[in-house]
Amino acid sequence: MNKRVSKPLPGSILLRNACVATLGPAVVEDCDIRVSDGEIIAVDSTLKPMRGEETVDLSGYIVMPGFVNAHTHLYSSLSRGMPPPVTTPRNFVEILRKIWWRLDEALDEESIYFSALVGAIESLKFGTTTLVDHHASPNHIPNSLDLVKDGISRIGLRGLLCYETTDRGGRKRRDLGLEENERFLTENANNSHFRGTVGAHASLTLSDDSLGKLGELANIYNSGVHIHVAEDQADVRDCRKRHRVGIVDRLASFGLLSRKSVFAHGVHLSQKELSRVDRSKTWMVHNPRSNMNNQVGYAPLRWFGRHSALGTDGFPSDMFEESKIGYFRNVESDSRTEFHRLPAILQAGQQLISEFFGRPFGKIAKGSPADLIVLEYNPPTTIRRSNLAGHFLFGMNSTNVRHVMIDGKWIVWDKQVLGIDERSVMEKATKVASKLWKRMNG
Ligand SMILES: [Zn+2]
Repeated sequence: MNKRVSKPLPGSILLRNACVATLGPAVVEDCDIRVSDGEIIAVDSTLKPMRGEETVDLSGYIVMPGFVNAHTHLYSSLSRGMPPPVTTPRNFVEILRKIWWRLDEALDEESIYFSALVGAIESLKFGTTTLVDHHASPNHIPNSLDLVKDGISRIGLRGLLCYETTDRGGRKRRDLGLEENERFLTENANNSHFRGTVGAHASLTLSDDSLGKLGELANIYNSGVHIHVAEDQADVRDCRKRHRVGIVDRLASFGLLSRKSVFAHGVHLSQKELSRVDRSKTWMVHNPRSNMNNQVGYAPLRWFGRHSALGTDGFPSDMFEESKIGYFRNVESDSRTEFHRLPAILQAGQQLISEFFGRPFGKIAKGSPADLIVLEYNPPTTIRRSNLAGHFLFGMNSTNVRHVMIDGKWIVWDKQVLGIDERSVMEKATKVASKLWKRMNG
């Protein structure tokens, strides 16, 4: 590959001879792409270089839109390898109490920032360019979303952020959570890289009063609510027992079903509930790795509707891996769905973020944001529209990601994140993680 300049010139970039691939509807075609001012301005098979234009020959490479992780928790980035709880959790609620709620209570400003920074670096190298994040740091709520934003911004990704409002820490913390959501979403209403939404933990930790306030906020700002829904039976049982109503009915009664709402998991929703969620155009996010790891059950993917996307729920944002694991888990389940379902819901995450940013993400077409990944993938068989899902699930992986462009700028070149000393960031993060783990056990 020949790249004429080491740093992007102002003005346009021409990507020549690329094999362009989009997952759903599947597209595979050879063409040239011209990018300018953060946007794809032309796609054609015969674009000629202009004077002074950066030209990159991508013969033999595949170009795809950067991936979207539709539900994650960057604050768990420093949890990898941390000591296990003294007693093993026996169920999902104990997993929350003994692991994740102890971690989020121990987060301080430094660890929030570094969690976001290292999570963003990893995401980028996996080819994920937009993160839909759900943040919690109960001892550092005001301005915590700015720390997450700063970590992501340092690398150049895009993010849809929210703070996890909950009653588990009392009235004062709940109100701070609501205020943090409102502050962030109003301050970033026109940001090109960030948008806010209203974050909420789950029905089982939210009173009617709190759900009412969340619904009000989402309605005022037309932002939707990002919330865990029926992740475990405990959430469904609690709703029936305390509120005498089904969980989707409860959320709907507070106006939480809307085209900008993001419901994570849906493992224990009925076919009827899932079709109601989809009819409202609420996004349902499938998180297969997390569901398996927490043993909460298998989400009935065959009942998930058109507004379904893929998330990692705190696992690293490797959407190749999430798709593969999701595919294999589906194949052995009682909820078998079509072969290309996982790549299709991964692609649908682009539509989700398009709703928030008001731009057509996920397409390699004139007018789309120039968020692109370049893959070095040399298969032993032909690659076409009809078999792209097979190549994606059984061949491609995140080590194929060689270059990444966001907003028309190269952020990763030859697998190196530009403008950052990755080794020193990881060294510093290791120290921050040690202190965090000590606070958790202190
Ligand atoms: Zn989650």
